[in-house]
Amino acid sequence: MSPRSHRSEGSFLRGTLTTFRRRCGKPSCHCASGEPHESPALAYTEGGRTKTLTLAEAEVAEVAAGLARFETARAELESAADAGIAALRARRGR
Ligand SMILES: [Zn+2]
Repeated sequence: MSPRSHRSEGSFLRGTLTTFRRRCGKPSCHCASGEPHESPALAYTEGGRTKTLTLAEAEVAEVAAGLARFETARAELESAADAGIAALRARRGR
């Protein structure tokens, strides 16, 4: 493992970046009658349920990078598995 892998910026994430909208509940707030509050969020599934994790604006780039890393790693795993199946089939084939 490289030293980078221990840093949070090297982490993997799954899910999708989305916008979380909510009303804070304060009667005096503009959101009570107008536009709800919006914040960036990560939507992901855990145990078959969709969960939403709100993010700070500053975290969005980091999260997007984590999602991209995961997609890349997953694609690599998929092709490695395809190669494994091909090898297994070749052994049967002849
Ligand atoms: Zn509000």
